[in-house]
Amino acid sequence: MFTLMALPYAPDALSPVISANTIGFHHGKHHKTYVDNLNNLVKGTDLEGQSLEAIVMAVAGKADKAPVFNNAAQIWNHDFYWKSLKPGGGGAPTGKVADAINESFGSFDEFKKQLSATTVSQFGSGWGWLAADGAGKLKVVKTGNAEVPMTQGLKPLLTIDVWEHAYYLDHQNRRADYVNAVIDKLLNWEFAAANLG
Ligand code: MN
Repeated sequence: MFTLMALPYAPDALSPVISANTIGFHHGKHHKTYVDNLNNLVKGTDLEGQSLEAIVMAVAGKADKAPVFNNAAQIWNHDFYWKSLKPGGGGAPTGKVADAINESFGSFDEFKKQLSATTVSQFGSGWGWLAADGAGKLKVVKTGNAEVPMTQGLKPLLTIDVWEHAYYLDHQNRRADYVNAVIDKLLNWEFAAANLG
């Protein structure tokens, strides 16, 4: 049985960029629903007992398993999203992540511009990502709906949720305001460094 990940901070800790009200619906309702759905979908199948990532990779691209993929990948994405944020985060990283960003994008400002533009421009629901390719080069990518970077051979370092449920209560249609505030105030660079390995 999969369980809803506990938030690594208090529900009001990301306010005012992400309010406790948004967290209540996003974590307590949307994220929880994916967990409940997946538990029902895998019950009694050969996927029961497998890890979340194993299920995501096993059913990716299989049309007849789309409901399993969508719910499993959305649990994975949301677990990763909550860890990608922290109170008092954002700004420029230091150490190896800073070095990798400078090598891959030329500067932190150029990276920030690309992460913002790419994430804001995701058409409809989806995710913006900082990810590393097989050669260790960092890239900014976007994925639609529940899609994950791992199916493209990329290792995710950070993500920003741009489904409307992530920002509409606090920012309404102003997706760019939400994305830029997350980049400036909430990104968890320690989590990115741990993922870079
Ligand atoms: Mn979401």
